[in-house]
Amino acid sequence: MSQADDPRLAGTAIAPSVLDLIGNTPLVRMKRIMEAEDLPCVLAMKMETTNPGGSAKDRPALEMILAAERDGQLRPGGTIVEPTSGNTGVGLAIVAAQRGYRCVFVMTDKVAPEKVSLLKAYGAEVVVCPVAVAPEDERSYYKVAERLTHELDAFRPNQYANPANPAAHYASTGPELWAQTAGRITHFVAGAGTCGSITGTARFLKEQNPAVRIVAADPEGSVFSGGSGRPYLVEGVGEDFFPAAWDPSLYDEVIAISDEESFLTARRVSQVEGILIGGSGGMAVAAAIQVARRAAPDDIVVVLNPDSGRGYLSRVFDDAWMANYGFLRECDRCVAAVLDARSDSLDSLLYVNPAETVRVAIERMRQHGVSQLPVCKNQPPFAAAEVAGSVDELELMETIARDPSAMDMPVEKIMGPKLPTIGIGQQVDRAVEMLETAPALLVLAGGRPVSVLTRTDVLAYFEAIAGDARG
Ligand code: PMP
Repeated sequence: MSQADDPRLAGTAIAPSVLDLIGNTPLVRMKRIMEAEDLPCVLAMKMETTNPGGSAKDRPALEMILAAERDGQLRPGGTIVEPTSGNTGVGLAIVAAQRGYRCVFVMTDKVAPEKVSLLKAYGAEVVVCPVAVAPEDERSYYKVAERLTHELDAFRPNQYANPANPAAHYASTGPELWAQTAGRITHFVAGAGTCGSITGTARFLKEQNPAVRIVAADPEGSVFSGGSGRPYLVEGVGEDFFPAAWDPSLYDEVIAISDEESFLTARRVSQVEGILIGGSGGMAVAAAIQVARRAAPDDIVVVLNPDSGRGYLSRVFDDAWMANYGFLRECDRCVAAVLDARSDSLDSLLYVNPAETVRVAIERMRQHGVSQLPVCKNQPPFAAAEVAGSVDELELMETIARDPSAMDMPVEKIMGPKLPTIGIGQQVDRAVEMLETAPALLVLAGGRPVSVLTRTDVLAYFEAIAGDARG
């Protein structure tokens, strides 16, 4: 791409087009983190934010389109259809603008409006589909993408299966890192989503030096680190299936990182280094710090930062959002203190599985003296995972009074909506306010449900602190 087609550019530093600015991203020492963590080796960040679209995904976007042009899947004036709302969409939109293609992105109505606006800003068309329909439904995201690909005779890059995705990193990210470290890179750490970044880069580096250690960072719960695909909040990484580019023969280690550590690390790197990074970047840095702690003084550990924190201002960098998921503590007089004061001090969440019967739910409530239970799909040995709804004594009583056979139905048939959530570090006053309308609250710590909070709990807490004050 870098051949100038205009002789007037000869001898100048004018890039022929924005596509020539994809790649060749800088590598920077994480000076302040190295000092703060007292790391024995060099820790450096590959800053993919300097790509024109602000993420590592510009590389595969360009490569997938060039490959489709080469093999005739994409002809001049053609159309690209891809179900994506993220960084790949931005990369494809940039390449499409530059090379004269029409771009149609299909996404669900769960996606933040800024993401829709961002893609439209590049001239792409966006089709929004309802998230609340089954995958087989004609209106679903999958079906609509399929139909549009067919109707518009479009090219569908499908980054999860496209070999041009890892090939892009093999051709650019790997050689850049080798040259930038003068062949002295000893460890490469990256988050894995489609696995394009880690696999392509690893393949190149291992060919140069098989001793380079490749470390995949993965959100706790994702399949790459042995999880079941249980939900987590970090975006863009982890999967509930193994994409085509997943190649464990190249990875020396997979490190699972919690949402909490990912987000807090993203905030810390942004504040300490002045490099604004997102949750998946925070996850990769958290893994890289673990790797660097065990490294030798001459080692060079490189971590790939895929994108900027700008896309996460309303989540990772929003204190209220972080507190509501139990990632931050607002004060001492917080929900954690109420739970500490509780006499039963349950150390794991009490809940009922959607497939268990109403009879079991009632029995569990009676046994533990509670009037509500969250309904959670659990994955032993972990406590609760995905919250599906809730059951309430009063509602169960009414249901069974109407239909006694409900007693042996699975809870999921009759359950009510999910309980409102509160973070473990949010103020007790917030809990009081919420309990004016809700009978119970689900307490989140580190993004996961840990307990149910009721009016009785708050009263007991007030009683305890009043007692302490007197004593
Ligand atoms: N972080 C973010 C924010 C991403 O969008 C992606 C791409 N899904 C990744 C990390 C992981 O990159 P890859 O798909 O190459 O594994």
